[in-house]
Amino acid sequence: MKLLLTFSRKGQYDPGREPVIARVVKETGVLINVEKANIDSMAGEVLIDVPDADAALVRRRLEEMGVSVRVMENAVARDEAECIDCGACISICPQEVFSFDPGWRLRVNAERCVLCGRCIRACPHGALSQQE
Ligand code: SF4
Ligand code: SF4
Repeated sequence: MKLLLTFSRKGQYDPGREPVIARVVKETGVLINVEKANIDSMAGEVLIDVPDADAALVRRRLEEMGVSVRVMENAVARDEAECIDCGACISICPQEVFSFDPGWRLRVNAERCVLCGRCIRACPHGALSQQE
């Protein structure tokens, strides 16, 4: 399951300056895969992937450390009414989220998405969007 972590780097309690992910791995024994990280002096946003069975435990520990956690169940969504099955998103996606089915209709495996946003910018019909 993908979890989007956000935290402020201001104030007294600052998860951005603490090794919170390493700490959760050590405490829980759950292996966490970091898929994307944007961290600057003001705030941080990190996308992690954890086994579904461990997601609640990981989420609880992170929230206890001051991290805001959002479940990303459908990271990228396709509007079927707008999609014209052109395939532009297939070639641009680094995660192979998109493919054609045997009938040349677009298939979406959103679980693989790392929220890079490339497909959304590339779609000529505005058929793709990202979970807010
Ligand atoms: S780029 Fe847009 S219109 Fe083309 S297949 Fe992908 S979602 Fe559909
Ligand atoms: S946001 Fe990036 S990783 Fe996700 S489906 Fe689009 S191109 Fe692929």
